[in-house]
Amino acid sequence: MSELKCAQKDCSNEAQYIDAGSSYCQDHFQKREQQQGQLSVRWVYLAGLFLWIAIWLWILGWIGPQSLAQKILPAYAGNQGLLAIPVGMGFVVLLINLCLWWAPKGYAGYETEVKVIEFVERNAGWFLIASGAFLTAASFFLTRPPGALLTPPLLAREGLVAVLAFEAASLFCLLFVVSLYWTPPNPKSLARLRHLKTVPFTYAVSFFAAAFSALVAAALS
Ligand SMILES: [Zn+2]
Repeated sequence: MSELKCAQKDCSNEAQYIDAGSSYCQDHFQKREQQQGQLSVRWVYLAGLFLWIAIWLWILGWIGPQSLAQKILPAYAGNQGLLAIPVGMGFVVLLINLCLWWAPKGYAGYETEVKVIEFVERNAGWFLIASGAFLTAASFFLTRPPGALLTPPLLAREGLVAVLAFEAASLFCLLFVVSLYWTPPNPKSLARLRHLKTVPFTYAVSFFAAAFSALVAAALS
């Protein structure tokens, strides 16, 4: 009867756990189990952070065309510091997640992961309703035709453009969160999915904060 060696290269131990579909020794079997039970998602948050920075460099006109910056920045005349709130918020949230998940970590079982992703989607759903209501209210109350009863107009045109543009960006990002993605029904795929959804959700919340900052800036000017 031939002796079975551990499948790990350069390991001279006798193989065990053949019945578990593996031919590793005890040490290497446990090591592999541990590795397979971990999730490496740092690249999700790294990519999310770089994209967030790129989006703002583009909005502020530091890269690419100036047209957007020319429409949005006048709303912040004298109060440009307010823009740091939404930009910093998205940056900090993604950075915290990146630090938390820098080292690969384990994920929960199937039922817990299903509950967690349901929680994410329920929050996104409520946020979609609230944000939609805000957009409706903003476009209804803030876009008065010239000469309408409310004088002076509630918001100068620049402020209005910034509020509606950021609000639209927020809703657009939210659509990626509430969309359906049919991953294989295992806890690892579900855990990956919730990390992938965290990035657009963070963008959506931060753009919502940007819409608010534009409203405040318009009120202050
Ligand atoms: Zn071994």
